[in-house]
Amino acid sequence: METFVKWCFGALCTLPIFLGAHIYCVTRKYTCPGCGREFRAKWYAFGTWYHTGGTRVAKCPHCGRKGFCRYE
Ligand SMILES: [Zn+2]
Repeated sequence: METFVKWCFGALCTLPIFLGAHIYCVTRKYTCPGCGREFRAKWYAFGTWYHTGGTRVAKCPHCGRKGFCRYE
């Protein structure tokens, strides 16, 4: 029972971190260098995209181009 309580406590502590990271990710706007249109990230793409400085590898939903996209 004690292990279960510890697990619940751990889950409650890490949940806001994941939630915060998720909100941070989905509220960002990405600009496609191929077609110049803006798009928002899908929640499931977070963590899988390669990310450097102000750019991130993402797939544009408008033209299908996959590459480095600038984000705000
Ligand atoms: Zn595009």
